[in-house]
Amino acid sequence: MPFEQPPLPYAKDALVPHLSVEHFDFHYGKHHKAYLDKLNELTAGKPEGSKSLEELIKTTEGPLFNQAAQVWNHTFYWNCMKKGGGGAPSGKLADAIKRDFGSFDDFKKKFHEAGMTQFGSGWAWLVLKNGKLEVAKSANAECPLKQGATPILTCDVWEHAYYIDYRNARAKFLDTFLASLVNWDFAAKNYEKAGGK
Ligand code: MN
Repeated sequence: MPFEQPPLPYAKDALVPHLSVEHFDFHYGKHHKAYLDKLNELTAGKPEGSKSLEELIKTTEGPLFNQAAQVWNHTFYWNCMKKGGGGAPSGKLADAIKRDFGSFDDFKKKFHEAGMTQFGSGWAWLVLKNGKLEVAKSANAECPLKQGATPILTCDVWEHAYYIDYRNARAKFLDTFLASLVNWDFAAKNYEKAGGK
């Protein structure tokens, strides 16, 4: 069974005006799909083809790791956004953000900074590691699952993630992601699933 591209969790025009249909045509329809096609090419007829993406991320390196991680990262990322998103989390995750960052504003500042200081392609993350929330950044396909951390939220800061709608303005894209796109319900679910207290 080849790996399959899960459908977007919303319509391609759901995040307009923050992310355009054209953005999803390219980012989901071409970039994400290309990672899947390449992953299927690399695993066709091999035992790796029947492993989960998480297993491949944890146990492989090089081209196979890159494709598997980029497939997983993007599927996770689509779910990190929703129509009418942004604002602030509530419940346990909100309490934990306050506990581990001091305040929600301090978290936002750190997350934005991680996205801005990731030189070149990569990702900004909110992760749970050893019972504590941390902000992290990763280069290219790198995924916190490989470092034993649980992803709670991510933002894609590859140029292809914002060039269509924001041109070179990564800071403006990160501002918009935090203010208007973040799906805090998804992040809260990830936090609870990971056993966050
Ligand atoms: Mn991307």
